[in-house]
Amino acid sequence: MTAPDGLPRHAEAQQFPTLDDVLQIGGILLTRLAERVGRTPFYAYERRHIASRVGLLRQVLPRGVQLHYAVKANPMPALVQLMAGLVDGFDVASGGELKVALDAGMAAERISFAGPGKRDAELRCAVAAGALLHLESESEMERLARIGSELGMTPRVAVRVNPDFELKLAGMKMGGGARPFGVDAARVPAMLRRLAQLELDFHGFHLFCGAQNLSAAALCEAQRLSVELALRLADQARVPMRMLNIGGGFGVPYFPGERALALDAVADGLAQSLDLLRRGSPDTELILELGRYLVAEGGIYVCRVLERKRSHGQTFLITDGGLHHHLAASGNFGQVIRKNYPVAIGNRMQGAALETVSVVGPLCTPLDLLADRMELPRAEVGDLVVVFQSGAYGLTASPTAFLSHPLPLEVLV
Ligand SMILES: *Cc1c(COP(=O)(O)O)cnc(C)c1O
Repeated sequence: MTAPDGLPRHAEAQQFPTLDDVLQIGGILLTRLAERVGRTPFYAYERRHIASRVGLLRQVLPRGVQLHYAVKANPMPALVQLMAGLVDGFDVASGGELKVALDAGMAAERISFAGPGKRDAELRCAVAAGALLHLESESEMERLARIGSELGMTPRVAVRVNPDFELKLAGMKMGGGARPFGVDAARVPAMLRRLAQLELDFHGFHLFCGAQNLSAAALCEAQRLSVELALRLADQARVPMRMLNIGGGFGVPYFPGERALALDAVADGLAQSLDLLRRGSPDTELILELGRYLVAEGGIYVCRVLERKRSHGQTFLITDGGLHHHLAASGNFGQVIRKNYPVAIGNRMQGAALETVSVVGPLCTPLDLLADRMELPRAEVGDLVVVFQSGAYGLTASPTAFLSHPLPLEVLV
């Protein structure tokens, strides 16, 4: 399968960016962009990259699969608004994200709301707006039915199932075994019997097995098992399943040695799972929800060198950015073994003399590390340090209040 013009071929898609890419984002020279933004640190997200990533998926995925964006990956309002025109729906995980999604102009019927601890006020907002609620427990179902009757409305619901299998090789497991997410598959039939007695409008099932997976085979297996489980549950409960959200979990390469996901292979597997679903339940809509895969590679984080320091034979670049803005790049957002994100000196041309340096932030903790003994062009005070793969789980996944530094800016270019 060939990619559309201008897009990378899937097999070699998204190797780590070269310095040529570094120098421009959204067609603007990085140094120029830094001037325009006016201060560092900042995040920059590229519209073109995000749109072409969605375009690539549309091209490759089987027709009929609905593509949703998981807002928590990057809830910047301008980016969510861009996304509203590109995807078929949004998945949100809080009342705050629901507001961002609605403000971006996404129709409420195409917004689903999952999350294990929804407060009554959040449920009320979601019901009033007309969003689809993914039930994470039997007691949440009862609360929601009560809220619906108070509002005189019939809440639209799906049941989030904690599957009885695991997504192999996932960077973050979210299903299989004891989990705070969803309802154990074995309990779902009884839950559906109770649901039928309540004033709730049942739409189908949601399964989300895990995130950051680079193995097409593991993803395809989880998708097939998800469809089989959903068909079995719908059959036992004798309920029509109008929609099935099988999660996503598509990973992106962050570290040396990681290879981009083989999207063609994922698409082939998904076509088979879609077939299976169509045979068992012809009118069920199949939804894929992706966060990171849509936005991670379209974003950079940029900070400035404040100090060069030598200590016991090692060189440190001390910057104005760090883990308070970008926890994931520091290695403290769920990573087991710390590895360096791809980092470059954004205003130094290739061919400059290299040196081995550690890039650190201004915080008084040894955890505030953006690059550990990495080979980079020699940088001076005032130079720009760029962290790639920063479009997802960056700013809003970071402890911004720690040490009371100002927030970084965010721009969509
Ligand atoms: C976080 C989350 C996602 C998005 O995961 P990515 O790894 O960013 O694709 C999708 N669905 C649910 C239910 C989530 O909690």
